[in-house]
Amino acid sequence: MKTKLGLLYGGKSAEHKVSLQTALAVIRALDHEKFEIHPIYINVEGQWIKGPQLTGPVENVTALEFSQGNQLSPLSLAPALFQAEKQEQQPLDVIFPLLHGPNGEDGTVQGLLELLNLPYVGNGVLASAAGMDKVMMKNVFAQAGLSQVNYVAFIKSEWEMAKEAAYAEVEQVLGYPCFVKPANLGSSVGISKCTNRTELDAAFGEAFQFDRKVIIEEGVVAREIEVGVLGNDAPECSVAGEIVPKKDFYDYKAKYEDGETALIIPADISVEDYGQIKEMAIRAFKALDCSGLVRADFFLTKDGKALINEVNTMPGFTPFSMFPLLWKHTGVEYPQLIERLVNLAKERHAEKQ
Ligand code: ADP
Ligand code: MG
Ligand code: MG
Repeated sequence: MKTKLGLLYGGKSAEHKVSLQTALAVIRALDHEKFEIHPIYINVEGQWIKGPQLTGPVENVTALEFSQGNQLSPLSLAPALFQAEKQEQQPLDVIFPLLHGPNGEDGTVQGLLELLNLPYVGNGVLASAAGMDKVMMKNVFAQAGLSQVNYVAFIKSEWEMAKEAAYAEVEQVLGYPCFVKPANLGSSVGISKCTNRTELDAAFGEAFQFDRKVIIEEGVVAREIEVGVLGNDAPECSVAGEIVPKKDFYDYKAKYEDGETALIIPADISVEDYGQIKEMAIRAFKALDCSGLVRADFFLTKDGKALINEVNTMPGFTPFSMFPLLWKHTGVEYPQLIERLVNLAKERHAEKQ
């Protein structure tokens, strides 16, 4: 029997367009003999719109941007409703949320799918929420004994009441250069590198436009190495990749617009450095209670010390994104990667029942 796979994509976030590209790529990669594909598009207003079941390949993303006609209440996806109403149509077997950032990668959609009792690909509520909040994530990493940069955090009202004190603390604890980031975003949105008090002041103002909480980190000079982790209770680690931004740092433009950033896979690092990063990636995965997948990002300093920067619980997932490329080089092609993830989702759901 075919697996009825609900693809959830789009979303009310800065990564709406990226998500559409991902959905298109996933639909193209899926084996239509094995999967029945049910698109669910979330438009920029946040409305859920059910598309027709796809029986063949789709040409381009515009075919996936359904207009408002078939608006859907997420609650109507609950298997319990199908049973109660004795509908002909069977409920979906698995949902694959191809969403990034707040309201997609942060545990909110995952919580909804838990309530609906639907199996879904990727991380659960806790890992998604903790992974989205850089302060929470780093607190968990610290508790797990993972090496990372020093950091401090402020909420907006604290900063507004005592800006000078906040800046003095940053200078005392971290010094310059430092990085100021909104706590709950991704894609480098709202992130600034600061080398003096004037820049720090501007950076706080910028970051607080996106979030009520900011994190400030000590700046490091290091290579940026990433690995993919795949699995549930016994996670596996991919080969390592390196990102080499042509700019000062890996900002939003470098990620999505310039195409200037080089991805080097496998990364040219020593066996010892890889071993250290792999061990830390698995430890981070377990510390955050992750499931399905995570891309773990590291700084590797000149003296060979690996510092964990972050994990991304729903990493970029087009065939040209780092996570799928890392697995391709590890021997798992894109279509197989998607199937593995769907199976991991089913496995995790079955364990909970
Ligand atoms: P996002 O979740 O938006 O990807 P990151 O924390 O990964 O945010 O920061 C984006 C980029 O900024 C990193 O890939 C790196 O290039 C640079 N960067 C972030 N923090 C630091 C730091 N503490 N030291 C040096 N570079 C950093
Ligand atoms: Mg991130
Ligand atoms: Mg990052």
